[in-house]
Amino acid sequence: MASAEERREELVALFKEVQACTRCPLHETRTKAVFGAGDADAELMFVGEAPGAEEDRQGLPFVGRAGRLLNQLLEEIGMSREDVFIANVLKSRPPGNRDPQPLEIEACRPYLFDQVRLIEPKVVCTLGNFATKLLSGNPTGITRVRGTPQVHELGGRTVFLLPLFHPAAALRTPSVKETLRADFGLISELLAGPAPGAAPTAEDEEEVEEPPDPEPQPTDEQLGFFG
Ligand code: SF4
Repeated sequence: MASAEERREELVALFKEVQACTRCPLHETRTKAVFGAGDADAELMFVGEAPGAEEDRQGLPFVGRAGRLLNQLLEEIGMSREDVFIANVLKSRPPGNRDPQPLEIEACRPYLFDQVRLIEPKVVCTLGNFATKLLSGNPTGITRVRGTPQVHELGGRTVFLLPLFHPAAALRTPSVKETLRADFGLISELLAGPAPGAAPTAEDEEEVEEPPDPEPQPTDEQLGFFG
């Protein structure tokens, strides 16, 4: 297993690779590639769709109004941007903020999975429909899946995937903002709870259901427990 230092070195190498990446045509129109930013050992990652105009100019993720809302929601659960890692599925901006194309997604997604492998988060929050559908492998819309944690293997690592509304959608609609705020409350619970690999699956639960011992005799210890 790689040490934290080795993982960080590999992440820096990946950062440099993304800055120079020409794997898809988006490199021709981007100003700066947006690798992602934050704690290289974060327990919590956010994944959005792709950089917008301001992100493309600065080379940083979520720096506009949506980013400020993300900061505020993090503060409300006692965290800051420095505690998390924020990235997008695509590292270069699609011109005019058009939807990412399948070839671009195929070319760029290995970078995201490498980021998850190297950062080793416990919780990955997908922001909006696009990142949620891609990372969960399920086409169900965000309105139906938001706020319910799923367990997935990403980049060879078992993580909680928590689908959330995109902060940009929350800026447009007050009720979406309140839902997003409520869903942020789940993040603290997931971070404080058992590891996702330890979460029992439906199959596990069936397996552990054993018949009770015949005529159990309570011991003093057990009585202390229940009484
Ligand atoms: S979007 Fe991804 S694959 Fe395409 S040029 Fe940018 S970094 Fe490379």
